[in-house]
Amino acid sequence: MIKRLRQALWHKNFTPDQLRRYVGEFEQCYFTYAADDAVHANAASGGSVSALLIYLLESGQIGGALVCRTALRAAKPRPEFIIARTREEIMVAQGSKYAAVYFANDALPLIEAFDGRLAVVALPCDATILQRARARSAALDARIALVITLFCGHNSEPALTDAIVDRLGQGHGPLTGYHWRIGHWRGSLEATFADGAQVVKPFETFSDYRNLYFFAQPKCHHCFDHFGYHCDISAGDIWSPRMKANPIKHTALIARTPAGSALIAAALRDGVLIGSEEPVDEIANGQARTAPFHYSVNARARVGRFLGVRIKARNDARVRPVDYAIAFIALLNERVSRTRIGRAVILRAPRPVIRLYLYLLKGLESL
Ligand SMILES: Cc1cc2nc3c(=O)[nH]c(=O)nc-3n(C[C@H](O)[C@H](O)[C@H](O)COP(=O)(O)OP(=O)(O)OC[C@H]3O[C@@H](n4cnc5c(N)ncnc54)[C@H](O)[C@@H]3O)c2cc1C
Repeated sequence: MIKRLRQALWHKNFTPDQLRRYVGEFEQCYFTYAADDAVHANAASGGSVSALLIYLLESGQIGGALVCRTALRAAKPRPEFIIARTREEIMVAQGSKYAAVYFANDALPLIEAFDGRLAVVALPCDATILQRARARSAALDARIALVITLFCGHNSEPALTDAIVDRLGQGHGPLTGYHWRIGHWRGSLEATFADGAQVVKPFETFSDYRNLYFFAQPKCHHCFDHFGYHCDISAGDIWSPRMKANPIKHTALIARTPAGSALIAAALRDGVLIGSEEPVDEIANGQARTAPFHYSVNARARVGRFLGVRIKARNDARVRPVDYAIAFIALLNERVSRTRIGRAVILRAPRPVIRLYLYLLKGLESL
């Protein structure tokens, strides 16, 4: 009975047509992790993204990799793009930064100024910006050796991170270090403060608000690209019971181009990555709740009209009644968290209330 319930909650029998729409064109899919323990331990998922970048760098195939590290600005954690030229710089930038990034302003100029071959890690929306820039400039296009996109449900405004850091930092002085998420299955967030205190909390301390779309970036409502269509390799987590039980955290990889396929094959052959090929529905089922809603931009477009948000219906997603309910919650929550009173209510609400609300949303997403 519990097994059947679990199966219903986590597993969806996607049709081949749904898989094609959600995941996009691809050559092979894999579950892998970095063979180097240090790279694996420091990672968001299995460390495969960083292992591939280090492999490209140390085999001389690239001179640098565009990555995103955490900088502290006025003691607040902010994502910061850099071009990493060493293994150490790639490792310092490991982990997911769940706060708004400004790729066109901050990353493109770095890429354009770099003299050499580059690999780029980007969110799906930013990989689309890069693809357009490459189409405009042959010189830029020639510089890019490989693009890796991260699966992405949505990104959050920095205000959410700041609110959590303020809460954790009471009495400890300014923040001196921050990880949004580290460790196995959901993971932990880690904050260090000027008095030497290291506060480690379950990732849910942050992600419960994030998964309810509180403080979501408004632009994310317009997006339906969960898996990152415009790249050589897409990389993400695997949120399925099978992988929860696995003591080694893996990255889901989707090879989309011959260059992406060749790189993963070589990394597996040379022992840089450990893992195996997997059917695409295993990848999709690692995102069974979030990917269908993300693709359903048409539901958000229709519900948006009632909430004064203009969203273009941009694909052929079939909208089910439940998608309207989820879209309503996502749009409403994002809007409410933008108001002063809304923020105060959300952040002061008892955690069990927030949890209960999240379970309601997850329940709807599972239908
Ligand atoms: C905002 C956001 C939303 C995400 N949503 C999902 C999701 O819904 N489902 C899912 O399965 N996975 C999601 N991911 C991806 C996932 O968290 C991991 O990044 C991915 O599994 C790769 O893990 P890894 O251990 O192989 O990478 P690591 O070895 O940890 O390397 C991660 C690389 O990503 C770069 N990076 C981190 N944050 C950003 C950023 N904001 N912009 C550009 N580059 C960045 C790092 O600099 C590093 O190079 C999301 C990531 C982000 C940043």
